[in-house]
Amino acid sequence: MSDNHQWSREAIRIIEADFQRSADTHLIPLELPGLPGVELYFKDESSHPTGSLKHRLARSLFLYALCNGWLKPGAPVIEASSGSTAISEAYFARMLGLPFIAVMPATTSQEKIAQIEFYGGRSHLVQDPTQIYAESERLARESGGHFMDQFTYAERATDWRANNNIAESIFHQLRFERHPEPSWLVSSPGTGGTTATLGRYVRYRQHNTRVLCADAERSVFFDFYQSGDASLRLDHGSRIEGIGRPRVEASFMPKVIDAMVKVPDALSLAAMHYLAKRLGRHVGGSSGTNLIGALVAAAEMVAAGETGSIVAILCDSGERYATSYYDQDWLKAQGYELSGLIDSVAACVEQGQALPEGVLRAGI
Ligand SMILES: *Cc1c(COP(=O)(O)O)cnc(C)c1O
Repeated sequence: MSDNHQWSREAIRIIEADFQRSADTHLIPLELPGLPGVELYFKDESSHPTGSLKHRLARSLFLYALCNGWLKPGAPVIEASSGSTAISEAYFARMLGLPFIAVMPATTSQEKIAQIEFYGGRSHLVQDPTQIYAESERLARESGGHFMDQFTYAERATDWRANNNIAESIFHQLRFERHPEPSWLVSSPGTGGTTATLGRYVRYRQHNTRVLCADAERSVFFDFYQSGDASLRLDHGSRIEGIGRPRVEASFMPKVIDAMVKVPDALSLAAMHYLAKRLGRHVGGSSGTNLIGALVAAAEMVAAGETGSIVAILCDSGERYATSYYDQDWLKAQGYELSGLIDSVAACVEQGQALPEGVLRAGI
């Protein structure tokens, strides 16, 4: 057995041992008094050790890279990230004793940089956010390290058939519910990896479940889904952290998605604040986007006289956004006026009123 094979074996054992010590994430019901007959649940990915659904992705990317022989002792692991993936990868790199470098836009929050450092990683900031990929490749080349490249590999690093991926976990946890086979699964695209896993899994297991993908305002995914034009570009980043991309990422798989919505950012943040109030704790902006997606699906079900269940992803907690989305001064400085929208979300959930205008839809 080669030295690299021997080292990889031990590295995989360490990651699997960590997995074995960990518990699954919760499935939390949220009552919808205004939408009778529809049971909504949130898959709470904030309860992973590194605080977001990127914990699953980081574990998958490390295992994939190890099984491909791409990592070696002492060689740095490099990632292009807007933050959450880097935090989770820093956790796994430290576990394996590998140096970790996150290549991120200079605008990345101090909280995220501090968390990467907490796990022993280093941040390499670039002024032009479109350069994070090229800069990661350069660093990997010059240091003899490995560029993980989440936006390419997220869809293929996770076992879509099962192996306790997020989809299998959801179906397992729903077994004793009134509607164990959900009508809809709702997630929002950053890499697109989570949506790809959900879509492939329901097809493979022949479930009667549809996948709804809820995009952010400043993002090309929804337009790509409708037009098929992979050359779409935006010159600004998304304001909902973790989701929405200025280019069509390789990991985004449109054919396994049954419907898409595009949610205005202010409505996502209003839904986030409403959800935080209902749950008694802060959640991230993309969970608000997913709540709106779930409400669109729920309203369709009620209108069609259907009953059933919906599962949406709660992607991360609100701790990372204490000085932004949960700071009234910050919201005002950004031009957000949310109170009327929060009331509208409450009226939809609690009285079954229509959502405010502005949500674009495809396939629903
Ligand atoms: C990455 C991310 C998402 C989207 O997940 P993907 O699997 O990358 O599409 C949603 N919310 C947050 C907070 C994220 O970090």
